Amino acid sequence: MKKVLVIGGAGYIGSHVVLELLDQNFEVVVLDNLSTGHKELVPKGVKLYVGDITNYDDLKEVFKTEKVDAVMDFAAKIVVPESVKEPLSYYHNNLEGVRLILEAMVEFGVKHLVFSSTAAVYGEPENGVCQEDDLKIPINPYGESKLAAENLIKWSSKAYDLDYVIFRYFNVAGADSRLRSGLISDKLTHIVPIITESMLGYRGPISVFGFDYPTPDGTCIRDYIHVTDLAIAHIEGLKYLLNGNKSAEINLGSNAGYSVLELVNEANTISKLSYTKGPRREGDPAVLIASNKRAKKLLNWEPTRNLKEIIKSDYEFRKTRKK
Ligand code: UDP
Repeated sequence: MKKVLVIGGAGYIGSHVVLELLDQNFEVVVLDNLSTGHKELVPKGVKLYVGDITNYDDLKEVFKTEKVDAVMDFAAKIVVPESVKEPLSYYHNNLEGVRLILEAMVEFGVKHLVFSSTAAVYGEPENGVCQEDDLKIPINPYGESKLAAENLIKWSSKAYDLDYVIFRYFNVAGADSRLRSGLISDKLTHIVPIITESMLGYRGPISVFGFDYPTPDGTCIRDYIHVTDLAIAHIEGLKYLLNGNKSAEINLGSNAGYSVLELVNEANTISKLSYTKGPRREGDPAVLIASNKRAKKLLNWEPTRNLKEIIKSDYEFRKTRKK
């Protein structure tokens, strides 16, 4: 049985990956500093090390104690406006933290890294659709810090005996179908949890940001992907490396997108949702979609959960966390 270290495994995406790894009979240990992660999201029986990737002693303790076969890294700071205000802390966590993870992998001879990156590394793609080999011109410190980490991983792979899969994606949402995990945050900014909170009466009508974009209904189009589909893709990436395949950078997305109004309409088929027309939010491109051709080709993966399942599962999870 292969043993996997999931860094950031107490967080939203990491915890769904842990569930999926256990379902597929991997042995799992988690390292998380619990800054945005939650102990309760780490399943019973999974050893949790509370520690920080920017502290080499914390990493060393895990790598020394647990002889892991692979590392999956989800521990990142991910809030774009915050990254603009605090670039130093973003680079410290998202780049220096990854440098130390690589350092530990080299010291302890761990050869496989699955790295959770972001489609923010592409910046503002011309037609809104990102392909893996497109130019990467991030437009904020968050995207820059993740791109720098990606590049460091690539250089390290050339220099040392390690391989990687780097995953890039946009709008992750939804919750585990058995409600064992979901997005927990007291600073929700993403549209899906804002919609479900509004449906549940935890907040008033949502505000739709901008109706004058060059899209069919005038609202922004995004590539929403169910967190369980995403978790499954990460495990396919892990198996791909364990099977001896060569390093790759892979987008995860649906190849299509939904407008904010389409989300509102879908939500209304589940429970009543009202909205108001708001102004554009600064920095929002009209369309962002991740091409998933390569994921299909290399991993035989494509998302299977639709928009209704994304909204419904988040709605059910949020219901369990009554305000
Ligand atoms: N959005 C909105 N109202 C909100 C939050 C978001 O209309 O209260 C829109 C936002 O302008 C964007 C889309 O929903 O077009 C997705 O935004 P989100 O913040 O969820 O993710 P992003 O695409 O910015 O990463």
